[in-house]
Amino acid sequence: MDRRSFLLRTTGCLLSLSLGIKPKKIYSFNENSIKKAWFFKKDENEFVRCQLCFRGCSIAHKKRGFCRVRENRKGELYSLVYGKPAGLQIDPIELEPMYHLVPGHRNLCVYTASCNFRCKHCHNWPITHFPPEQIRSYDLTPEKIVEETIRQNCQSISFSINEPTIFYEMMIEVAQLAKKRGLLTLCHTNGGIRKAPLLELLPFLDAVTVDLKAFTSKFYEEISQAKIEPVLETLLTIREANKHLEIVNLIIPTLNDHLEDIKKMCRWIAENLGKDTPLHFTRFSPAHKITHLPPTPIKTLEEARTVAMAEGLRFVYIGNVVGHPGNSTYCPNCGHKVIERSHFVVKKNLIKEGKCPFCGEKIPGIWIAS
Ligand code: SF4
Repeated sequence: MDRRSFLLRTTGCLLSLSLGIKPKKIYSFNENSIKKAWFFKKDENEFVRCQLCFRGCSIAHKKRGFCRVRENRKGELYSLVYGKPAGLQIDPIELEPMYHLVPGHRNLCVYTASCNFRCKHCHNWPITHFPPEQIRSYDLTPEKIVEETIRQNCQSISFSINEPTIFYEMMIEVAQLAKKRGLLTLCHTNGGIRKAPLLELLPFLDAVTVDLKAFTSKFYEEISQAKIEPVLETLLTIREANKHLEIVNLIIPTLNDHLEDIKKMCRWIAENLGKDTPLHFTRFSPAHKITHLPPTPIKTLEEARTVAMAEGLRFVYIGNVVGHPGNSTYCPNCGHKVIERSHFVVKKNLIKEGKCPFCGEKIPGIWIAS
């Protein structure tokens, strides 16, 4: 099940229910909802060139970039979604997915309208495929978002559901404030961000989840209107910065399920990011423009996991299959189950001081909030 429908149907709660605040019926621009962008260059004739993601949109006065939330006003670029989250949701952290970051804690997730990719299979398309004017949103400053996270007894804030790069100015301010208040911070990204903004953001993040949607340019171009090279560069930058990193690969029948490509991807991860990088193979279910393909057969996910482990990856998970043994964490040294999960629920966590209790093997991750 995809993240949003899981939330709405089961454990997640829309914050409006607990706060008593309701999203506006329609997005409206005001002084709180525009913020000068951090990364752009001025060009001739009042054009600007956005420097935030791989697209590098060249934008004329009164026009917006591909992500629909960055607008040129008289030669200056502005974010239109600062302080305008489309939603806040409380989830188990595992829902990101993120399995090696203080397992089982409550996380508050922040998101806005729109995206800088156009994935045909997007599960969150009612949010990601529309401009902010067509999406209900809250008026919430970064300070209020952090306050609410603490009030809701959440240990972390994540930026997820839509691509957080496009609300960069709000994300980095929330992350900075959250770190000052002792919260954990997580960014779940498609990896399209440029290196300079990423390097400025990383000091305020504890962990990053990156969607590696496939290991072919063809998939990125035809299914997501994007490119794979910036995503690989983002992965390398996160690894060089020594941040905790987990990777998600949603396997879609016939589109990215070739085992040879999966093998190449796993080899690249092992050689460039390290064998300790957790990898989640997640199950596709038909959505948006890809409703003609069936859900991923469980056998395909299991074969991918076998291939990944044969390439040396030590923590390989199967997601969106409730109760599958691949939901759990096993010690790569002695093979004992050290965290038992069913879907996103942690049933047992035996890890002690970051180590396997049976053989003492170090398990990578952040196990206690500092
Ligand atoms: S963040 Fe938006 S405006 Fe900037 S380059 Fe990316 S798609 Fe274009």
